[in-house]
Amino acid sequence: MALSTVEKSLERIQNQIRQSALKSGRSPDAVRVVAVTKGVPVERIQEALRAGIFAVGENKVQEAAQKLSSKTQVPAEWHFIGHLQTNKAKAAVRIFDVIESLDSLDLAERLDRAALEAGKVQKCLLQIKVSDEPSKFGWNPEALNESLGSLGALKNLEIVGLMCMAPHSDDPEKARPYFQKAAQHFGWIQSQKVPGIKMNELSMGMSHDFSVAVEEGATIVRIGTALFGERPAL
Ligand SMILES: *Cc1c(COP(=O)(O)O)cnc(C)c1O
Repeated sequence: MALSTVEKSLERIQNQIRQSALKSGRSPDAVRVVAVTKGVPVERIQEALRAGIFAVGENKVQEAAQKLSSKTQVPAEWHFIGHLQTNKAKAAVRIFDVIESLDSLDLAERLDRAALEAGKVQKCLLQIKVSDEPSKFGWNPEALNESLGSLGALKNLEIVGLMCMAPHSDDPEKARPYFQKAAQHFGWIQSQKVPGIKMNELSMGMSHDFSVAVEEGATIVRIGTALFGERPAL
């Protein structure tokens, strides 16, 4: 049977991940692909699941809710990767297995309450800001350090790692210092052994820079375009 385009793309991406992991002395099995499915219709997401993807990433609560309510099901681990407004915390807790973009204490407290009400422990990653771009969401590293104790005390959240985005550049090498900065902070938080804070997952790297991210320690890469092709402009 001929491979679908998504299957071929996934194979290419996984080969690349393997090479980059081995190059830096890491196990290729330590890196997972989250398929970024924003703007991708449910039928194509299912194709990706058949190709071996098991986690999907969405950046809008509304879009994810629509996909979940469609007749065709998407049995996957759902990751939220966009900026989450506090008034959408409840809906996000209902939908997502992992919220990768937790970026403030205020949001953390809302999610904690929503998780309690939902009878769930919500897995989260902390989005850390590694560049000076004014438009990017995420914790400033110093502010994050000061909040770790409070974050760890929220009983209905399970904080398992960090997420970051490098500024876009056509040259993936330009992303390397940002990924190094995130990996360094990741290691530092690990070493602090803050009660309630685990550092097992480092989510970094997208279609154009995931190879560099894997070399620098990513355990999750978030890939849209390289799997599904260019998204239609919104
Ligand atoms: C869209 C998006 C991605 C994937 O981007 P591609 O370049 O299409 O791979 C990854 N992470 C976040 C936070 C995104 O919004």
